[in-house]
Amino acid sequence: MAVAEVSLEHLFRVFTMPEGKDSKLAQIEQHLSDNLADFLSQHVVTKVTSLEQIEQSFAEFNVPEHPEFVSEHAANLLEKLVANSVNTYSPTFIGHMTSALPYFHLSLAKLLVGLNQNLVKIETSKAFTPLERQVLGMMHELVYAQKSDFYNTYLHSANHALGAFCSGGTIANVTALWVARNKALAADGVFKGVAREGLAAGLAHYGYKKMAILSSRRGHYSLSKSVDILGLGREQLITLDCPTQRLSPEKALAFGKQYAEQGNKILSIVGVAGTTETGHVDPLNELADVAQELGCHFHVDAAWGGATLFSSTHRNILKGIERADSVTIDAHKQMYVPMGAGMVLFKDPNDSNAVRHHANYILRAGSKDLGATTLEGSRNGMAMMVYASLHIFGRQGYELLIDQSIEKAKIFARMIQSHPDFELITHPTLSLLTYRVNPQEVQQQVKADPSLSVKFNEKLDKLTVYVQKQQREAGKSFVSRTRMQTQAYGEQTMTVFRVVLANPLTTENDLQNILDEQITIASKSQNWAELTKDVV
Ligand SMILES: *Cc1c(COP(=O)(O)O)cnc(C)c1O
Repeated sequence: MAVAEVSLEHLFRVFTMPEGKDSKLAQIEQHLSDNLADFLSQHVVTKVTSLEQIEQSFAEFNVPEHPEFVSEHAANLLEKLVANSVNTYSPTFIGHMTSALPYFHLSLAKLLVGLNQNLVKIETSKAFTPLERQVLGMMHELVYAQKSDFYNTYLHSANHALGAFCSGGTIANVTALWVARNKALAADGVFKGVAREGLAAGLAHYGYKKMAILSSRRGHYSLSKSVDILGLGREQLITLDCPTQRLSPEKALAFGKQYAEQGNKILSIVGVAGTTETGHVDPLNELADVAQELGCHFHVDAAWGGATLFSSTHRNILKGIERADSVTIDAHKQMYVPMGAGMVLFKDPNDSNAVRHHANYILRAGSKDLGATTLEGSRNGMAMMVYASLHIFGRQGYELLIDQSIEKAKIFARMIQSHPDFELITHPTLSLLTYRVNPQEVQQQVKADPSLSVKFNEKLDKLTVYVQKQQREAGKSFVSRTRMQTQAYGEQTMTVFRVVLANPLTTENDLQNILDEQITIASKSQNWAELTKDVV
């Protein structure tokens, strides 16, 4: 490999804009975009290369001593990295929430990196700051629909924030619960507040033994990270059983009262609007009542499902979300924005002041620096991608996207139900569903004698795992898997396929092919033979 020169002159060239269309860098750029377009247009999810093989391309541990030419390095990236990535744009990649992006984002990404603005403070972002505030305002309006006076007052107010933009749902959830914690243990008399004196002093001052967050078992694992870093401890994330996949308001209230009687405090109830595993939406309106009765914060984690609010047909599924104190929405999920775009919205624009932070050289008091109320420091101008998407799609465009994905999930559910050797496990509320392969004769026998389900479920779990892995390794399509309890099978935990229909380009034909592939793999397997052998 040719070694590039180690000179300042060479390094300066690396920083310089290419001159003209035919320059070397312009050619490299073209070559990279062509290759990317090629990769993304292939209808396979990933190459059949094992992770162990790929690790060998990344085994070197010394920092390269000599500079490399950009052109050579680009070739290297294409060969080692791009070729062995996962094609999340493939219409048969239906296992996760990460999916294809609208193509205009590729051009916008160049603008984003080109400008390299830092939203932490006005001095490094200027127009990006009001843009981000406007995006938060639009999303706030989508959730809370306050009057225009409200937005005229708060949208650009230096002393308020309608929300916080961040890298994703995890940080959004942490931020929401951080605000809730600081409000619950606010300064009071001689006590200077938890933010200054710490958790032990806060609990002692208010006379609480412990403080907990309450959600269903389907709550996202970011809640567990939140209670950990907020100092409450992971055991103080109370997750209630939810055979129906939704948090029961009665159970939440009963638990909350009992917990308070023991000298503890529920910090927040977290309702999920679109669980990661099955897409179910908690009964938000009823949970808002429970939070009110317990006198605690009500947070809604709508990282996935929040975009449903764009649809006038389906937004009623999230009824009650407007009563939440805070709401998490990920633009990088159903708003089709590149990763790194999360938001938390606060019903009360004063709430962000519970975590406000000042520093002398930056984030001065009274400035409009967004960094004063965000957990993260340096942040890029990702809000521009949300801004552009909101304009390019418009509410009606998003409505169409949401409606078609929910409709497609219903169609897929019917395809599964009408196939004798599949079993639908959870019906789609949004565009997620779960199912498994289950040979017809096994299903019939369990129907006749439900007590047999325990015996069969173990074998069915193995079959599901086998099919999922084989399908993934073949690389043509991808469906994920998870373990869960359902009402139909009582306490039994079972393994199921999990499908997220996010890519608008996935067709019914793609879905049919995925089912066909699964049945082919399953029916030839040892597991299938063993299962059907047991049928008497
Ligand atoms: C994806 C998701 C999160 C986490 O968001 P990240 O952007 O991955 O950090 C949290 N909650 C729910 C319900 C999610 O779907």
